[in-house]
Amino acid sequence: MEPLLEISELQTAFQTDQGEVVSIEDVSFRLKPGETLGIVGESGCGKSVTSLSIMGLLGQRGRIRKGEILFDGEDIVQLDEAQMRNIRGNEISMIFQEPMTSLNPVFTIGNQLIEAINQHLKLGKKEARALAIEMLKKVGIPRADAIIDEYPHALSGGMRQRVMIAMALSCKPKLLIADEPTTALDVTIQAQVLELMKKLRKEIGTAIILITHDLGVIAEMADKVIVMYAGQVVEETDVFTLFDNPLHPYTKGLIGSIPQIDGDLEERLVSIPGTVPSLLQMPNGCRFHSRCAFAMERCVNEVPPLLTAGKEHLSRCWLVERDREAQQSREVPSG
Ligand code: SF4
Repeated sequence: MEPLLEISELQTAFQTDQGEVVSIEDVSFRLKPGETLGIVGESGCGKSVTSLSIMGLLGQRGRIRKGEILFDGEDIVQLDEAQMRNIRGNEISMIFQEPMTSLNPVFTIGNQLIEAINQHLKLGKKEARALAIEMLKKVGIPRADAIIDEYPHALSGGMRQRVMIAMALSCKPKLLIADEPTTALDVTIQAQVLELMKKLRKEIGTAIILITHDLGVIAEMADKVIVMYAGQVVEETDVFTLFDNPLHPYTKGLIGSIPQIDGDLEERLVSIPGTVPSLLQMPNGCRFHSRCAFAMERCVNEVPPLLTAGKEHLSRCWLVERDREAQQSREVPSG
């Protein structure tokens, strides 16, 4: 199947008071129709900048310096704002962590949902309202015919997120980008929202990019995963391999910091020491070396590329090469 989205060597930079700063670098991945890609990493790793680059929402200070974003075979980096707006309204939708920042507090839910519907469907007033109510019911909003005339502040966080999902899906997008969609919600509502996204993915066939720092959400939803660190992809694989055989020390650290339900209560969580380096002072060599328990001399001076570690498994770590060499020397018969 042809990929729906194919990103190659994307580099995005922002203008700051200290000059232009590269925020993400050499980001490449593919996504097929109906697939869910999880992007995981701590804050400041470049997850959101990746999604805003795809949406063409980098603001006045941001720009794509390099790379291609092929969406349905077309390089959308080359499109102007009007063309991008058209793609955003019709083919790519986005939901954010805090729906209040995306919902306008002075308009009713109905006004906003109907406006979203009208961007791509030319319906009469009555039909658009009926479709809006149907969408609200579909995302599990009770009393949808009354809620449609409410203002956003009258709804709980979980209900507002459902409205956002209804708006995002009203145009049946080919791609939904969900940036920490459940982070602000309590656990029960979180599970319901994830279930809803799964159901809609199945019904509409939308591909999803799910951005989260929560590996539990990744395990629940993703088919494949990229792990980002300091603006780069450091590991890419399918979701099962990610949990069974993580290779990059950063990924191992993230997985080690998940609480185990059946773990010893006294057992302390492994946390990754240190913090993500500043974009203004990126270290030489491997960007993770100052936090890595496996760092070797080479890691301080040489930038590791994404190395192939298995079938569709990539890791930006010199250990892949070291292990491969060790394996080869074991295989060479001595004497
Ligand atoms: Fe650690 Fe070196 Fe691998 Fe970087 S390249 S993650 S420092 S072992």
